[in-house]
Amino acid sequence: EPGRSWRLIVRTLSAGFTLVRLMDRSDSVSAEKMRVDFVANASHELRTPLSTIIGYAETLADDPDLPADMLARLGATVRGEARRMQRIIEDLMSLSRIEADRFVAPDELVPIAEVVRLAVANAEHLRGAATCDFLVDIAEDLPPVRGDTAQLQQVLDNLLSNAVRYGCDGAHATIAVAVTYTRSWVTLSVKDHGPGIARDHLPRVTERFYRVDEARSRETGGTGLGLAIVKHIVERHRGMLEIKSTLGIGTTVTIRLPAAP
Ligand code: ADP
Repeated sequence: EPGRSWRLIVRTLSAGFTLVRLMDRSDSVSAEKMRVDFVANASHELRTPLSTIIGYAETLADDPDLPADMLARLGATVRGEARRMQRIIEDLMSLSRIEADRFVAPDELVPIAEVVRLAVANAEHLRGAATCDFLVDIAEDLPPVRGDTAQLQQVLDNLLSNAVRYGCDGAHATIAVAVTYTRSWVTLSVKDHGPGIARDHLPRVTERFYRVDEARSRETGGTGLGLAIVKHIVERHRGMLEIKSTLGIGTTVTIRLPAAP
């Protein structure tokens, strides 16, 4: 069977019996492979900006009398690359904190409407001069969600940042944020009218460092870790994550979280 790994254990018992056990090791082998791939990817992601910083620092050290405009350009690039490393390191630390806490049930009463409003304000700031509007629809009398306020804030911030970074290109694009409440679930959705994600890529976008359009992700300050963080936080909250997308139409990310009883 492709992709599966087995261990065969044969033991001779007394009285002429032989015990044969076939154990499926696929999960531990693939977990180990994921860990190795993750370390390799993280090292690669950090090495790329670091090489630029070292190269530019050497240029400065070799020729301290560079013209002012060139110095300014070198400085701006070094700052940009250092910030990229900082974002990657912060996201990696978030991921490892979430993983460390995964067996600890989060128990704050999270005012989800406030979290959403703050995330929209953050996204408006991020949007800058881009021509896109936010449509926010939050159900009244929303019950709180039992969870971790900072982590749920991060979920909303990541989803809205993606909607802005990928969906705020076209003229008068709209980003719709909705929060509804039905049968003990609070449902949050973020819908954009950006380029969408092709069907082949969709199942992989929550993997660490997986990017559909690497250049676009980098240009807009992405780390490739945003949706991986979202997925882990939603899992920790025993919630559900669904991403629906159509090329050329847009993307809708929906999260369901159990409402606090
Ligand atoms: P990144 O920092 O690269 O945005 P994410 O983990 O947030 O990393 O997303 C992974 C990839 O999924 C992105 O690089 C992008 O290709 C794709 N993606 C995520 N959100 C959207 C969206 N709203 N519209 C189009 N593509 C998206």
